[in-house]
This record gives sequence, structure tokens and C-alpha cells, in this order.
Amino acid sequence: MDESEKEEIKNMHWSEIIAKNVAGERKPPFVVAAGITPSGPVHPGTLCEFLYAHAISEQLKRHGKASYVFISDDFDALDSVPEPLKEHEATIKEDMGMPLAYARDPKGCHKSFAEHFIAETLEIMKTFGVKPEFVRASELYSKGKYDKYARILCERKDEVKKVVQESSMRETMPADWFPLLPLCEKCKNIDKNVVLEYKDGWYKYKCSKCSHAGEDRIENHHYKLLFRLDWPTRQKFLNVVVEGGSVDHHSPGGTLSTVCAIHRKIYNEEPPYLYKFGLLKYKGKKYSKSKGIGHTVNELLTLAPPELIKYVLFRPDVQEDKELVMDKETLFPLLDEFRRVSQMRETQDVSNRADRKKLIAFELCEVKKIWKADIADAILYYNIYHDWKKAGELSGDAGGVGFLKPYLSVWMERGLVPDRYMFEISMKEKAGGLVKHFLSKLEPGMDAEAIHNAVFAVAQEKGIEAKEVFREIYGWLIGKDAGPRLGKMIYALGVKKVKEAAGV
Ligand SMILES: [Zn+2]
Ligand SMILES: [Zn+2]
Repeated sequence: MDESEKEEIKNMHWSEIIAKNVAGERKPPFVVAAGITPSGPVHPGTLCEFLYAHAISEQLKRHGKASYVFISDDFDALDSVPEPLKEHEATIKEDMGMPLAYARDPKGCHKSFAEHFIAETLEIMKTFGVKPEFVRASELYSKGKYDKYARILCERKDEVKKVVQESSMRETMPADWFPLLPLCEKCKNIDKNVVLEYKDGWYKYKCSKCSHAGEDRIENHHYKLLFRLDWPTRQKFLNVVVEGGSVDHHSPGGTLSTVCAIHRKIYNEEPPYLYKFGLLKYKGKKYSKSKGIGHTVNELLTLAPPELIKYVLFRPDVQEDKELVMDKETLFPLLDEFRRVSQMRETQDVSNRADRKKLIAFELCEVKKIWKADIADAILYYNIYHDWKKAGELSGDAGGVGFLKPYLSVWMERGLVPDRYMFEISMKEKAGGLVKHFLSKLEPGMDAEAIHNAVFAVAQEKGIEAKEVFREIYGWLIGKDAGPRLGKMIYALGVKKVKEAAGV
């Protein structure tokens, strides 16, 4: 890599770098993959899983034909009761050990446990504007896509076992270890079932749940490969060239070491480009469903438009741990930055490396609606009129404020607007001499800036500091020592009305 290329890379967004690397190593069509297990509600980690792959597939389109396949691991065994379904614990426990695609939907609204959460995932993907080719592992198995490879893995069992042991850094392996898990023909349990005998695609098994002893053949597709073997195998037959994994999968001895080893030692090929993504954090702590740390996806969507959530996830380097916090401290700076970045392409004001990366992150968000209004102004007007329509008109961007209105309303209700923007007009007390003197300088035709400047003129005239004048006026207007943009506030209230209230 020469110097100019190194310089170029420093300016690139992470999604551009990954796409460039992949395109340098592989030939199109570029298949990007991602996936989840539909074992519970969609959480913010799921967003990372499908959004990062989406960003990369969009970037790869600049290098050639690219596609994006999202795999739902619905042939995994049901192994826990998700928090929101605790009331259905009894039903779920009965189906424990079955593939998620066979277990019942405890709520009864879908044809299986998996389908219940797949529907939710698809809905959320749609909200975020992500449209991959959505594939169910249960279908890949039932269509026989794995069969050829399952046979290879079973024939070479001892060799595969050694590869798994070494790559996962395990001291010992169970004596009855086998590459596949047979599905019990009687009770449909798949978890921990054991293969007792194997020959030429035929096998005898014992069910760990009902103790049934049966026999079957790989061609009948009643099995699942172990997770560490399933992953590289599906990458192989789906021709995946790039796929991500969280830091956990990338740890030494983690799943991806086995994935790579299986590709190299069993399938005799190079693994796909495997990128790593960092953890999601909430104020320094790792997001955790069980500990209730972090936002839920639904909460995030009530606090911010999907575009803005995408921006927060796309902006930092993919490998970094990232803070996903929407609160009183972060929302306003985020909105300001988003609006500023939205104007960069137009104003061509991309003066530095960091800004260029932000612009690419913004463009990956496929923003449909951007607001031009200053949100602090909109809040100021709302606090005066308690009417978002009016606040939109006064901020000069009725459409933008209208778009943000549902979120702004929630922020107001939940106390997420910084205190300095919040006030209530009082004007009840008798106005003091300094306030009256200031108001006497105001004319009905003055705009916000002229009103603001009048404060400084009064301060100079009286030989005092401007902040003293501000304090007096705010004290009378809103009963606070300070407040947002005095000129705009008085302008919005109307000079005439304010003067009348003060008896000037
Ligand atoms: Zn359902
Ligand atoms: Zn059974």
C-alpha cells in the first residue's frame, strides 16, 4: 500500500474500508450475510447485526453486484423463557429442546415460536429501511442444502472433532461428540440428542428428552449441524464473502476461530472476510436485557426517528464499543450534529476527516425527512404557545417540526429537554425599573436580533454589565435568572403584549 492509499484510507468510513478490502480479495457477486436466533424479542444488539451488514452491502454495490442475505437460525433449540413471555412459562417449558421453528408460539398468534419473533424482526427491519433476502435455517435444512456437507463432516468426524477441539481451545471433548444433532422423530426434541452409530449417511440416535431410540438418514434432513459447523457450512453454500460477528465470537477460542479452521482445514478454502463489531454500551455499562441495562428498541423508537438511531450506530468505528444513550445530555447535541451534517453535501463544508466520515454515516441512514429548524427555537416557541403547529411556523420549518413533533412531545413529557430550554412565561410580578426602561426602548416593528441588541444598549447606557440586565428581564418574564434567547422570546410573545404586561 503506498502513501496516497494510506492517506485515502484514513479518510474513509469503516463501511467503505471493509467494502474496499472485500472487493480487493473477492470477485462479485458479493454476498453479505448476517443472522440472529429468533429466541426472543428484538433488542438493540439485533439492530447492529442487521444494520452493519446493510451498510457494507450498500458500499459493496459501488464495486460490483452485491446482495445481502439475513439468516434466521430457527432450527436452533428452544432453550430459555424470554422475559416478556414469563406468563407462558409452562407451555414454553413443555416445548424446550425443540427447534424454534417447531415449538409453539406461546401467544398463539403465529405458527411457531420462531415465527412470532421473525415477524417482529421483519417489522423492525422495515422501520429501519433494511430489506435483505430473509432466509430461515429450517428451510435451508429441509431443502437439503446442508446434506452434502453434513456427510463430509460425518465421514471425517475424527478430523473435524480435532479441528473443533483445537480451534475452541478445549482440553477435552465428549466421547459421544458428533457433528450433527438428530431430530427425534417422536417428540421433535433436537437438543443434546446423541448419535450412537453412523455409516454412509445412515445413523442411529437416542433422544435426550423422551429416550426414544431411532434411526434416520442425512438425506431425510432431520438433523442440525452443531453451531460451530453450521456457520461455516452455510457460508459455504450461500457463497458468503463477508460477515460480521460481535467481539465475543471473535475472542480466542471463540466461534469464529472454529469457523475459520473449518473453512481452511475441511473445506480447503479461505473463510469469508469476518469483521468484528464492538459492544453496545449504556453509560459505560454493557447493554443487558436480563439486568435491564440500556434502552429497548421500542423505547428508542419513541425517542428518536430511525434515521437518527442509525446515525448513532453508523458514526463510530464498527470495532469500537459504542454508547447508545438517548437522554437529556445526548439528544440535543445529537440533533444539532445531525442537522449540521445533513447540510454538508450542499454547502460542501466537509473540512476535515471526522466530518467526512460523519457525512458518509449520515448518507448510509437514507434520510427521508430532515428538519431545518433549530430545535431549541422550536421548543422555545412551544413553551410560549403550547402548540407545535405554531412553533413550527415561527421556526420557519413547519414540516420539519411536524416530523419531529411525536419525539419532541415525548421528550417534554419525560423531562428530557435540558432545563435551560424549559420555562413558563409569568410576567405576573410588577416590572422593575430596569425592565421598564429596557421595554421602553422596544418598538413593535423590531425583530429578535434588534430586541437582543437593545439589552446591550441599555447596559452600556446604564454603565452596568449586560448579564445584569438579562437577569432582571428573565426574572420578570419567566421567574428564572437565565433562559433561552431573550430576543426570540420577546419577539414571539409580541413587543406590544410584553410592554402592556409591564405597564410600559
Ligand atoms: Zn405470535
Ligand atoms: Zn424424543
